[in-house]
Order: sequence, then C-alpha cells, then structure tokens
Amino acid sequence: MAKADRGAGATLTVDLDAIAANYRLLAGKVGGVARCAASVKADAYGLGIGPVARALDRAGCARFFVATVDEGIRLRRLLPNSVIYVLHGVLAGGVGDCVEHDLRPVINSLGDLEICNAAVGRRGSIVAALHIDTGMARLGLTAEEVAALAAEPQRLARLGAVLLMSHLACADEPDHLMNRQQRMRFDAACARLQHALAFRPRLVERSLVGSSGIFLGPDFHYDLARPGAAIYGLAPFPNTANPMRQVIRLQGKILQVRRVDRGGTVGYGATHRFARPARVATVGAGYADGYLRSLGNHGSAYVGESRVPVVGRVSMDLITLEVSALPEEATRPGTPVDLIGPHNPVDALAAEAGTIGYEILTALGKRYARRYVRGAEWAA
Ligand SMILES: *Cc1c(COP(=O)(O)O)cnc(C)c1O
Repeated sequence: MAKADRGAGATLTVDLDAIAANYRLLAGKVGGVARCAASVKADAYGLGIGPVARALDRAGCARFFVATVDEGIRLRRLLPNSVIYVLHGVLAGGVGDCVEHDLRPVINSLGDLEICNAAVGRRGSIVAALHIDTGMARLGLTAEEVAALAAEPQRLARLGAVLLMSHLACADEPDHLMNRQQRMRFDAACARLQHALAFRPRLVERSLVGSSGIFLGPDFHYDLARPGAAIYGLAPFPNTANPMRQVIRLQGKILQVRRVDRGGTVGYGATHRFARPARVATVGAGYADGYLRSLGNHGSAYVGESRVPVVGRVSMDLITLEVSALPEEATRPGTPVDLIGPHNPVDALAAEAGTIGYEILTALGKRYARRYVRGAEWAA
C-alpha cells in the first residue's frame, strides 16, 4: 500500500484506463464516440467526477448527462467545451444558471417548457432535450402532453437543437415485453414531435438507452446512447458474463486478529456464534464508508486468493472477517484485504448485500484514500 494511504482505513483505486476502454467498447457498439454520451451524475457514480470526466473526455466523449444544475456547473468548470445535459431539468429560477453555464436542460413537462420559453424571451432560443415518458412514470411528457405539443407546434419554436429522449424501465431484462413496448411508444411520440419540429429536422436527435439498452441491439440505439453503469464496470445484464473491465479495487487493512473460543460471539448484538475456536480479523471500514450494513453475516472479502466471510454485524468503522482457514503469517496487522477486487467485483458484493452495483458505487465512502491509476499501475 502506498505511503500516502497509511492514514486511511482503506484505499479505493480507480483504473482510468479501464473507464476509457469500457467507454470505447460501448461507443463501438453504437457507431462511434459521436453517438455515445456518458452519464456522470452523482459524482460519476461515486468514483470522482474530476478524474473520470477528464478520462472520458480524452477517450473522445463529447456529451455528458448529470442529474442536477449544481452537478452541471461543476462539470462545466472541468470541461469548458463539452455538451452537458441536466436530467432533472429546470424549476423556475434554474434556467438562468443553465444559460449562464451553457447547460442543456432536459424538459420533463409542459411546465418546464413554459419556464424555458419565458426565460429566453421572444427572440431567443434554447438548446434542450425533451424527455418523453414511455412507461417509467417518473419524469417526462405524457402521451397527452406530446399530443398537445403536436397540436400547437409554436410552443416548440423557442427550442434550438432538440434531443428527444426516453428511458427504459427493464433494459437489464432483454426478454421483457416492456422494452419493445417502450420503443414503439418512443417511435410514435418522436414521429409526432418531429413533425411539429419539421422546420429544422436536422437538429433533432433521439436517445433511448443507457448501458443495458445498448446490448438490446441496434433497434434501440437511435442517435445517442447515454451509458453510465457499464462505463464503471457494472455488468449490463445480471447473471451473464460481464463484458466490461473492472474499474475499482477497494482494499482495507487488517488492524488486529483475535482468537475466539468455541461458543464465543463477535460484534454488536452477538449475532454470530462460533461452533469451533476461530480467528477473527478486524478491518477498518464500515457502514460509514458505504460498506452496507446488510453485508453483516452475508458479505465476503479476499485475503490474496482466499475468500473470507464477514462474521457478525458491520459496525460504523469496522468489519470482522473469519480467517481461521488462513495461516497466521497471512493475516498479520497491516495485511491488505480486498473488499472489492479481482475475485469479488462490485456486482458480487452487491449480490451479497441484496442490492445492485449502482448502490455500492454511489455509497463508496469519503474516508477512503483514493488513487487514480492507468491500467499498468493497477496491481501496484
Ligand atoms: C442514470 C441514467 C442513465 C444511465 O444509466 P446506466 O444504467 O447507468 O447506464 C441514462 N439515462 C437516464 C435518464 C438516467 O437517469
């Protein structure tokens, strides 16, 4: 472990080459980097917007999606020339920031559209996305709202270039009926809006998919994909071989090893009782670091090539691993432990925690020493 990491309980290593390689693989599937944006909301899924956005920029990515205006402003400072879409759109008062920082709002309702129209005035125009709800029922224009716009196209007159977008609910289930249904609804809504926007047809693009949807095939790709998760190494489909490169490694350190007698217990609530004499290694990471409490008595880690189970509850700053099967010299204080690593990728830990990789990534703690490396340095 590098010198600078000595004071931290655990070290998070992020491989920027793997991020670039994953982005290029996805871009290749959809027809090139011009057709592949990147979702970098929530601090690039917890991995750090600064290094991640710069790595994607170097890899050729020119368009980015964030959730909030604040995230957009932060990204604009990092990438002065990129296109940035703000998924949450604009509540009254937010348009000014979008214009000032050259952010493209995602218009999610007729109310959002009115806010944008009012903000740019009679002569101005605004570049934006129009989000169409095809079945998620979270954000976006309903079918009735699309019909209202198709009937009154002048309400769209203030829009410059427009990205028509929607979002799939079940993209990680390739056989789910909803995928085709949403694609058909998207086609229908786009046809109506493209007709209403016919005065500048070349400035209208369409976007339907994030990571998993890219793997549903070319019918789903349209003009722009906006993957996030797969760039960060998560599998597009559960229980299927993962074509993406692993991006992160999370290494804790053994602080202490203690012997527990047969019948003894470990941790808060004494939830694990040992049937045989055991050795328990305590590692300095806990739920305050995003090592989810649901991993208590369910999670596992690796000491070298050996899998060691989490025994007892996860504490705020500590977890306990049973290392009885390992020789003492393999578990001395200071020994690194892979909480996430080559043998236990993010998706595996997520399965043990009863959640998804997205939640593991976005929960990654602020206390970890963070190292950004390029491929070859991965093992260092
Ligand atoms: C987060 C998000 C994405 C990216 O999804 P992934 O599954 O992480 O690839 C794409 N589109 C929208 C609207 C999103 O909210």
